[in-house]
Amino acid sequence: MVSLILTCAGQGKRTGFDENKLLKLINGKSVIDTAFDAFTNSGLIDEFIITANKYDYDFLTKKFKGRANVVLGGETRTLSIKSALALVKGDIVLIHDGARPFVSKEVILDCIQTVKKFGSGIASIPTPETIATAINGEILSATKENLYTVQTPQGFFTKDIKKAYDKLVTFDYPDDSSIYKEFIGIPHLSKGDPKNKKLTFKEDFKLETRVGTGFDCHKLVENRRLVLGGVVIPHDKGLLGHSDADVLIHAIMDALLSSVGLKDIGYYFSDKDPKFKDIDSTILLKEVLKMVDEKGYKVDNLSAVIMAEKPKLLKHIDSIKENLAKLLNIEVDKIGLTATTLEGLGFVGREEGICVKADLLVTSK
Ligand code: MG
Repeated sequence: MVSLILTCAGQGKRTGFDENKLLKLINGKSVIDTAFDAFTNSGLIDEFIITANKYDYDFLTKKFKGRANVVLGGETRTLSIKSALALVKGDIVLIHDGARPFVSKEVILDCIQTVKKFGSGIASIPTPETIATAINGEILSATKENLYTVQTPQGFFTKDIKKAYDKLVTFDYPDDSSIYKEFIGIPHLSKGDPKNKKLTFKEDFKLETRVGTGFDCHKLVENRRLVLGGVVIPHDKGLLGHSDADVLIHAIMDALLSSVGLKDIGYYFSDKDPKFKDIDSTILLKEVLKMVDEKGYKVDNLSAVIMAEKPKLLKHIDSIKENLAKLLNIEVDKIGLTATTLEGLGFVGREEGICVKADLLVTSK
């Protein structure tokens, strides 16, 4: 029986994210799910144990209920693994960094087979570049011969690695092969893979960017307020609609929905529904932002053009931009907002209506 310890207790501070990097999406799936699924889909693992930090413990326990035992990690990786080892039932245990989601079945299989043959299997790849040993700026030696980059999984017979961990007096080892080497014997290389890369820095998470576009038009009539981007604009006419007819907010909402592949605002907020009668469109925008958030994206920037013959909008642009920045939770300078007349042409030119075209980018969080 083979057990897996997936180490997810670090907080990934080097990535500069404010949440655990393992919860970040990569190709639309969290890092931890990608790593977990790689082992599940290999069909080679019988038992899963995940180490978690105190901030993610409840969330991960719930998330992996019935699929993995989640244990509360300690101050260091070594201490976290010590707690996890206490639960291991398999006679072979693989220990793998949660931040290496791209591990292949081949690497997992070779690790297990190497343990069976040699007592341990340490996934490694020959170092592609020359490595120098240097002290005080002076290179003492430089070579790539016999040098390897050590990865995970690192596999052992459970009884051996448990024995090694029981002998530990310090708890900040770089990896498990060093612990094995100190107390049990010489660790053995197994097959690694350059793709089995550890995601360490923000740049390692290729953020996915998607574009969204939205367009809307409303009729100008008397006895209505003119609301653009949540700001009331003094004018002798206003826009007609079931809601407050904020044409700018509507175009932005459609751009947002479009960016993440959802349907248009009419689908989610029907103009037949009395609950949306005269509603402040910024309330609906907040709903749409929640939907985008649930899809794993956030707004990066917005660029929109308002087509209106009258009123002149130049002096209102800054206050609309400020309001939109607050609503979209982005910096004001991430918003481009222009206004144009249509030179008297068509229904906009005849002051019968106002149109807005909005484009925006969203990035995965
Ligand atoms: Mg509309």
